[in-house]
Amino acid sequence: MKDSNCIFCKIANGEIPSSTIYEDNDFRVILDLGPAAKGHALILPKEHFKDVCELDEAIAAKVLPLGAKIGAAMMKSLGCAGFNLVQNNGTAAGQTVFHFHMHVIPRYEGGPEMVTWTPGKDETLAETAAAIKNAL
Ligand code: AMP
Ligand code: ZN
Repeated sequence: MKDSNCIFCKIANGEIPSSTIYEDNDFRVILDLGPAAKGHALILPKEHFKDVCELDEAIAAKVLPLGAKIGAAMMKSLGCAGFNLVQNNGTAAGQTVFHFHMHVIPRYEGGPEMVTWTPGKDETLAETAAAIKNAL
């Protein structure tokens, strides 16, 4: 299904032009217009899914292999030293476009700095584990 109000549906299906680096029946991979680093790409399914919780399982199974393929091509072509696969779900997690997408972000020596956190401590780890487990 497509959502006529969704910009990523329009980009994924070629109605809005983009810097496309890969396309197949299920996906279009484009360069991000506000890149965290040179080459920052977005994997867009052609069908509309709001986030990872809504994502079709067959499509989901293809996302990681595609991320690996794009990342490997970035390392070969752009000289980055690594890459991050990042995927945001919900406003609180930084999602701004509500059409599932996976970021493929090249990491060059010396930057950019991202996906970092200061390790904390959960004093109620067992309760936290039980709460999540019971909701599965
Ligand atoms: P997120 O914050 O995970 O929802 O990521 C949305 C990403 O989409 C951001 O990195 C934006 O820079 C990028 N973005 C938004 N609109 C466009 C567009 N029209 N073409 C390419 N990238 C876009
Ligand atoms: Zn969409």
